[in-house]
Amino acid sequence: MLPTMLPTFSDRWRSTLDWCPTPEQQQHFEVLYQGIVAANQHLNLTRITEPEAFWEKHLWDSMSGLSFFLPGGDRDPLPTPARIVDIGTGSGFPGLPAGLLWTQSEVALLDSTVKKLRFLDELLATLPLPQVKTLAGRAEALGQDPRHRETYDLALARAVGGVTICAEYAMPLVRREGYVVLYRGQWSAAEEASLSRALIQLGGVIDRITPFQTPLTQGVRHCILVHKTADTPESYPRPVGVPAQKPLG
Ligand code: SAM
Repeated sequence: MLPTMLPTFSDRWRSTLDWCPTPEQQQHFEVLYQGIVAANQHLNLTRITEPEAFWEKHLWDSMSGLSFFLPGGDRDPLPTPARIVDIGTGSGFPGLPAGLLWTQSEVALLDSTVKKLRFLDELLATLPLPQVKTLAGRAEALGQDPRHRETYDLALARAVGGVTICAEYAMPLVRREGYVVLYRGQWSAAEEASLSRALIQLGGVIDRITPFQTPLTQGVRHCILVHKTADTPESYPRPVGVPAQKPLG
């Protein structure tokens, strides 16, 4: 057992998300934290390594976007997604916390940077999460690959690009009636209008926009839940690089 470095913050979890990790999940968070901090000495994985900041900005923040699927909100929770893809996972956020939360769900940690995925493979070897796998490639390419296109129940995207770029990466990967969670910081009416326009082309609608305040530093976050209501036209995603060069919306 590793010596504990990460705060537990049971009260903060409960007061902000109405959820709290089990002792086993907390121990897995600890493994994840220590693995990332150790690897960060030779890989540029994250600037956030101080325990409290890591808890808030990586763990709590990742979980906030999953709260649509957990009891405790003002609406019934959505069913647990069976197949999840985390687009641009980087050092594993929010996909790794999703895999720790839902041990029966398949989670694909997708990134185009193979170096980060090799680190995640090593980290996954230290955790009992056989259903979590890394996936190398560009979201635009996998979105046109029949092995991945419209096969996921949930796509997650945090800190990967502009909101309509993320929507174009995510929507083709999700099956009809599935969901996308877009993690954002500040949120504006202009972004909402632009996302709504893009979603008309991609086959979805904004279901909910939930503002959060981070529990330690009172930062502003928004999680945008998108519902896929129609098949995405074959022309999306556009070729590699185009969504970022010419964003929809
Ligand atoms: N999601 C993580 C987080 O919130 O900590 C990592 C964010 S990091 C700033 C963005 C990641 O997205 C990078 O690792 C990058 O390689 C990946 N990425 C950017 N565009 C991508 C694309 N089109 N397909 C796959 N991965 C992409």
